[in-house]
Formats: sequence, structure tokens, C-alpha cells
Amino acid sequence: DIVVVGSINADLVVRVARHPQPGETLHGTGGGVSPGGKGANQALAAALLGGHVALVGAVGDDAHAEGALALLRASGADLDAVRTVPGPTGLAVVTVDARGENTIVVVPGANATMTAPSLDGDADTVSAARVVVLQGEIPRDGIERAASLCTGRLILNPAPVLDLDRDVLLAADPLVVNEYEAGLVLAQLVERPASPEDADAPEATLRALLAEGAASVVLTLGAAGALVGTRSGVDVDVEHVPAVAVDAVDTTGAGDAFTGALAVRLAAGDDLAAAARFAARVSALAVQREGAQPSYPSLEELG
Ligand code: ADP
Repeated sequence: DIVVVGSINADLVVRVARHPQPGETLHGTGGGVSPGGKGANQALAAALLGGHVALVGAVGDDAHAEGALALLRASGADLDAVRTVPGPTGLAVVTVDARGENTIVVVPGANATMTAPSLDGDADTVSAARVVVLQGEIPRDGIERAASLCTGRLILNPAPVLDLDRDVLLAADPLVVNEYEAGLVLAQLVERPASPEDADAPEATLRALLAEGAASVVLTLGAAGALVGTRSGVDVDVEHVPAVAVDAVDTTGAGDAFTGALAVRLAAGDDLAAAARFAARVSALAVQREGAQPSYPSLEELG
């Protein structure tokens, strides 16, 4: 039902008292490698919630490949369309200091091979999907090709924001963005520089996205929940979906849990606001545990 076309990473996380200066060597702790990448995260979140999920992506022929897919494999997601290419698996090197501030270096590795021509062999898989889920961590032409193959419902989470075709942005139903991404996408659609006000006035930004032609938009607001905007003809409907009040331990990957959950419920035929309420419950569980993928709940845990 659900096909995710996107990135697969190994996340290497080290902890330091403070970030090193150029040329400096510091001792750190941690060093564990955990599975990540927005495509893999969203696919796992959806699979754990009972979605029938296939992931289209690429890993390298290195030692990180298996670990990057380990939780997905255990989840029962269909990984037949994950190919192994020469070179490194996508890698995110994360350094977290004592104040919790991080620096992140992302090496796209195999994800960079997810170009338009590389999707030739997966065209039938993508076009047969009820819901196709895309993010911004593979090359632009790969995202655009996947979007053009989609005959079902397209969920586009343009994170990070890249310069996508206007038609692709407007084909999304919904576009899933946080406050920062919403401002950047709006700036692209109206062809002007991004303004800090876009992030400060999320409802106005959401309405402006719909006015530009977006079919629907989910604008996530962290602990403040999400705004769900839908348009039919000239009618626009905006609903606030509150977050579930919890003590957050680690919000890494919360947005990906939210998007994966949204995909499951949209594939099952829920309306967008109902799907967003479910996604808020799922991501509230995810923020109460460390990490991204290891924090994602199963249907049973949701109760
Ligand atoms: P991103 O990580 O993409 O910026 P957000 O931070 O907006 O995404 O989080 C996505 C969703 O996760 C929110 O809409 C909310 O439902 C949930 N969420 C995030 N942070 C919290 C929190 N501290 N408490 C409860 N829910 C949260």
C-alpha cells in the first residue's frame, strides 16, 4: 500500500564536553551506530504501525549497510527494492556537546545514486502504491521522478528543502513541513527570499501555501502540535491538532515518526485531520525514548 522512496543512513553519534576547534583532537564517548535517514525512518514508523510498506533506496557495500537496515528488516517491511551499490552507505556523523547542541555532517553515499534513471526498475512498484512518501534526502531528479510515477496519494516531506519543481510541490497531498521548512517552501512558490516572519506566523504561512495551490498542508509545530490545512476549490479549512503533553527525552526523528504514521492512516482511508491526530499520539511516544528508529512504537504500544 505504502511505498517510501528515500534515504537510508547509518548515524554515528559521539558525545563531547565541547565541540573541537579546527585541528584539535578531543576525547569523546558514545560512538554507537544506529539506523537513520528520513526515508528509512518513515518506512520503519509506518511498518511498525501495521502498514504494508516497501522501501525504495540504496545502501553501500560497506559494513554500515546491514546495521542501517536492521530494524527495518525485523519490522517485516519489504526491502526488495533496496539495492546495494559500490561505495559507502549514507552516513550522518553527529557530535553532541554537554549542552545538547549538535553538529551534523551528512555523507550522502549510496543515497546520491537515487537519481531519476535509477528508478527505472521500480516504476511499477511506485505507480502501484496507494500512498507514496518522499523526503528531501535523495537527488532532486529522483524525487521528481518518483512523484511523477505516483498514481496514488503523494506525501511530500521536503526535508531538507531543495529546489523542487513547483508541480511536484503542489502535487503533494499533504505537504508535511515544520515551521522552518514551511517558510522556505513558501518562498520558493512565491519566488522571493525566505523571511523570518514565515516561521513566526505558521498559520499565515500555511494559508499562503494553500493559496499558492497546495492541496493540503500539515505544518508541524513541535510540542505545540500541528496545523492541518486542506483546500477544496476556493474553500480552505485549517484545524489545530494539539500535541500530546509528555516529558520529551529526545525529539530526534519525531517528525519522521509523525509522517510515517500519517502515511499509514491515509492509506487506510482516514481524513487528514484524523490521520494527524493519530500521528501526534505516535510521535508523543517516540519523543519519550532516546534515538530515532529505536524510539518508534508498535501498534500494541499505542494501546
Ligand atoms: P521536526 O522534527 O520535523 O521539526 P516537529 O518537531 O514539529 O518535527 O515534531 C513533529 C511532531 O512530533 C509534532 O507535530 C508533535 O505532534 C510531535 N512532537 C514533537 N515534539 C514533541 C514534544 N516535545 N511533546 C509531544 N509531542 C511532540
